[in-house]
Amino acid sequence: MELDNKVATQLFSHLHDYLVEFLKLTRYALGECELCKGAKLIHPLLCHHCYADLPLFTYQHLGHNLLNWPAIDKLFPNRTFDQLLCLAPYAEPFNHWLKQFKYQQRFELADLFAFLLTELLREQYFENNDCGILSVPIHLNKWQQRGFNQAHLIASAFNKRTKLPYLDSALVRSSYSESQVGQSGKLRRKLLKNAFDISEEVDTFPSNIILIDDVITTGSTVNALCKLLKLKGVKHITVLTVAFTLPK
Ligand SMILES: [Zn+2]
Repeated sequence: MELDNKVATQLFSHLHDYLVEFLKLTRYALGECELCKGAKLIHPLLCHHCYADLPLFTYQHLGHNLLNWPAIDKLFPNRTFDQLLCLAPYAEPFNHWLKQFKYQQRFELADLFAFLLTELLREQYFENNDCGILSVPIHLNKWQQRGFNQAHLIASAFNKRTKLPYLDSALVRSSYSESQVGQSGKLRRKLLKNAFDISEEVDTFPSNIILIDDVITTGSTVNALCKLLKLKGVKHITVLTVAFTLPK
């Protein structure tokens, strides 16, 4: 009798697991908008209405470049990249999504970001044979500690959607420094100056690069990378991020 109970408990537990998995799959297949639970989806996590309501930057008067906005141009005086495209200011729902992505490992959001970034890039590069994707690297120790690099996850999803080549191991973060939050701009730049390397496996880069990160703040990280890339003969760099946040 005791054995029967054990078997029954095990069976019940398996059944429960299957049911949970089944419900998860059904929810994904049928789809439900993240924001309003609506079903008229444009992406497995987003409906048409909420997509239209997202507080995205509008680019029609900016020549498709945030750097043409004088207030933003001033924030990056010594930049080494040519174009800045960000989906939105760091505000709802993007701040919420980015936190869930990074701290709660909601990796399915990478494809939602990639979907929105693909829409944002429009067709600027899609037919271009001399174009590649890069992502801002983190140090191997940090990758091991955290288990993932959010910029890489977004870039991989973006690569799947656009089919643009992704040079996923071309950039290396060679120095391992603690979080840069709270450090002065001058100190940040000093620490970052020698923080990156280019992998020896890469001889030449495409002329046009799309450099992906989750958020841009001071731009010092991407600047340090772009300086290296320009030395390697890259002609045009587009920095592409989910959110833009003002430095404090
Ligand atoms: Zn919705």
